[in-house]
Amino acid sequence: MEIAIHGGCGTLAPELLPAAEWEEVRAHLAQSLRAGWAILAAGGPAVDAVQAAVVVLEDSPHFNAGYGAALTHEAEHELDASIMEGTQGRAGAVCTVRRVRNPILAARAVMEHSGCVLLSAEAADRYAQAQGLAMVDNTYFTTPRRVKALADIQAGKAGGAIRPITEADRHGTVGAVARDARGGLAAATSTGGFNDKPQGRVGDSPIIGAGTFARDGVCAVSCTGMGELFIRHAVAYDLCARMEYGGQSLPQAGDHLVHQTMSGHGIGAGLVSLGADGTVHAPFNTRGMARGWITGEGRICVATHEEVFDVGHC
Ligand code: ASP
Repeated sequence: MEIAIHGGCGTLAPELLPAAEWEEVRAHLAQSLRAGWAILAAGGPAVDAVQAAVVVLEDSPHFNAGYGAALTHEAEHELDASIMEGTQGRAGAVCTVRRVRNPILAARAVMEHSGCVLLSAEAADRYAQAQGLAMVDNTYFTTPRRVKALADIQAGKAGGAIRPITEADRHGTVGAVARDARGGLAAATSTGGFNDKPQGRVGDSPIIGAGTFARDGVCAVSCTGMGELFIRHAVAYDLCARMEYGGQSLPQAGDHLVHQTMSGHGIGAGLVSLGADGTVHAPFNTRGMARGWITGEGRICVATHEEVFDVGHC
């Protein structure tokens, strides 16, 4: 059994947050891993584990998903999420939802009950509500950090001199991959997109094969980075195909996509992936990527930049 998570490849520079806040970021990553691991350890399926791990990250203000998500140009939130299990290849997703508190739960409901793969906008929110999921006002997702980031970006544009937009402004996104005791793989991804995005914009995170993919016997993957390019290159599926048809190892496939395909476009990119043999690989080309995994010995490891912290046993 394995689980690994990411909190986006747009981690702030270390000097921009006080040490206590970085500690809280790592604590939330560890909490997410523990939530997923508890399910795996009890014999539960990988799809339940990735869902539980992502819910914790959606509820944390430190990541660009759920509470704390990025704001659109109109200073509102439109959220995307998807989930896939690799045994039967079932998947569910929602895009541009505005009211469901945990978009990953809506994606799971779509997978289980709707007969569809992707529901959008108000209809997806209504579907989530009909499924009994917790609903909130759109302002629930807003945090002071996102309001300030949006104001900075828009002020920069208004002044003619667009302030250099950092990876932290652009990216966030959360995701999880897991392998259960029966070898079943699953992946889940949830995001607010990026600050100042146009209304109605949909990224890769709710697109199966672009931001999320899982196939038993091969791999599970969740991506982060500028979604348009992940869609155009079908990155999550391409990682799987490189392994399945191309004979590449998980690290070879992931490194190629992040350090060649995506880096060739000059964009920040990252992913967390898990092979059918339990290999975890989490490449990124930015200064940092919040991430974590549980080792074969049951140690919980989390990181935001280069340094990896062992934060205890699960
Ligand atoms: N992939 C996400 C999107 O394009 C954003 C990110 O991961 O930074 O919506």
